[in-house]
Amino acid sequence: MNALTTALDASSDLDNPGSELSSASNSLGSALTECPDHPNATTTVIIIGAGITGIGAAYYLAINNVSYTILEAKDDLGGVWYTHRWHGARCDSEFIKYSYSFKTLLSPYRLQTRDQIHEYLRSVAEDFAILPHIRFNTRVVKAVFDTANARWIVHTTAGVFTSQFLINGNGYFSDPYVPLFKGADTFEGEIVHTSALDSQRTFLEKNVVLVGSGATAICCAPELSAVSQSLVLVQRSPSYIYEISNTVGPLTRACQYLHTRGLTFPLTVLRYAIQWKDDLIFVGFRKFPWFARWFFKHHWHKTIDPDTFQRHFRPRYNPWEQRIPVAIGLKEQLQQKKIVIKTGEIDRFTESSLVMADGEEIRCDVCILATGFNLNLLKFDMHVDEQKIAIGGINFYKGIMLGGVPNYFHPFGAWHTAWTQRSETVTRFAIRIMAYMKAKGFRAVRIDRRDIGFTPPLTSNYIKRCRAMMPRFYGTYDLPAIDNLVSYRFNPRSFKFS
Ligand SMILES: Cc1cc2nc3c(=O)[nH]c(=O)nc-3n(C[C@H](O)[C@H](O)[C@H](O)COP(=O)(O)OP(=O)(O)OC[C@H]3O[C@@H](n4cnc5c(N)ncnc54)[C@H](O)[C@@H]3O)c2cc1C
Repeated sequence: MNALTTALDASSDLDNPGSELSSASNSLGSALTECPDHPNATTTVIIIGAGITGIGAAYYLAINNVSYTILEAKDDLGGVWYTHRWHGARCDSEFIKYSYSFKTLLSPYRLQTRDQIHEYLRSVAEDFAILPHIRFNTRVVKAVFDTANARWIVHTTAGVFTSQFLINGNGYFSDPYVPLFKGADTFEGEIVHTSALDSQRTFLEKNVVLVGSGATAICCAPELSAVSQSLVLVQRSPSYIYEISNTVGPLTRACQYLHTRGLTFPLTVLRYAIQWKDDLIFVGFRKFPWFARWFFKHHWHKTIDPDTFQRHFRPRYNPWEQRIPVAIGLKEQLQQKKIVIKTGEIDRFTESSLVMADGEEIRCDVCILATGFNLNLLKFDMHVDEQKIAIGGINFYKGIMLGGVPNYFHPFGAWHTAWTQRSETVTRFAIRIMAYMKAKGFRAVRIDRRDIGFTPPLTSNYIKRCRAMMPRFYGTYDLPAIDNLVSYRFNPRSFKFS
């Protein structure tokens, strides 16, 4: 595959149960004109990445008969749900909401583990005949938009591909963030980042320290403590944490039952209702932080004493300024003293311990860093003709198009709720744009490059750390419940067609 690779034909006879798209979008792929320099290039869309974004995009393209190929760097699909293998890796969005709207997962559990999500994504790829369209072990290294021919030329580790449109689902995590600790090189135990941790490992004769306070640490701690001799959770500063029971409630059970009986709308309505609730909590907590702080205090008061709450559960920031980790089983393990929390700065490592800034020494054999990742929204070089595109600071319209980059869609999910609540909507929006172009005979679409102000809605450390490398979002309310109704109504005047 060293020259041009012909795309697979995506036209399939899939049902189109949920499509709201106009008839103009049907047979989009057949409208393609061939690129004179690359006569074999017949794919309309190249999707980069076979994670939840890429697979979702493939579904929507297929039901609209748009030809596509997915280029995936790894040897399996799933994205983060394939690569994150640490103890307790799971989602913290209710799965009824995080799963695709077009494929419900009936489950007794509210949240699903990494394995379950990976299996779910594989079943979607199989059920909707997406699997044969994925080129595994194919990393995109460079994509060039050829303005004269209105076509992307995509260079990969497995040859060159071309298409009219790019949909980029390459994810947003880059390399693990590993803070530098004094004396770490003298530590005789093991220091390992969660990205390199495999949940099959046990530490039954080891004293383990887990460093972190975000969702990873909170998901990991209860599972890790079950396979460790002891576990201390060291956090620099506290987070708001919300503990849930992972069993679905009677309402969801009833909706799932009706679904098995062929009555699907109650579950659909429930999905929307949960989204409205999430958005309401997001807005309400930010507007009335005193109430939110009271809520969390009340949430923990039966489990821990007021002093422990004050030291380890009272963040410096207001609720929902950062994502709220969802715990399962943390309360019980704290009560049973299987997990001990320490809050403060780590000063240094010694040969057999880490020492906190207040002088307290914590002996340990293994130190696991749940310190997260750096962000990178664009994982290959991108050019429009001769001009290289830098993603840092670029205007990012509705989480879909970058200023000055034609025929490029980048479905970006929601910050404070399930990713799919926006990535799916954005993908459908992109297909509407393609359908309009087909109907009017346009070959290229773009939005102009412009300067806009941008304050990220969340102040999480990974966002602050990588802010200069982030694009500037605008054009949405950042509330999927409202955006679905208002922001993603297609108005051709918002775009430049040629
Ligand atoms: C443990 C964990 C828990 C999470 N929980 C939640 C949650 O509860 N709710 C929520 O909304 N979000 C959650 N997230 C965030 C999660 O990243 C998103 O929800 C979502 O999975 C992003 O999907 P994606 O397909 O866009 O990206 P990814 O899953 O990162 O997939 C990107 C894919 O693109 C491929 N790729 C990257 N670069 C290239 C290239 N150059 N060429 C070819 N292929 C490439 C990668 O190999 C990968 O397969 C969680 C993340 C983690 C790690």
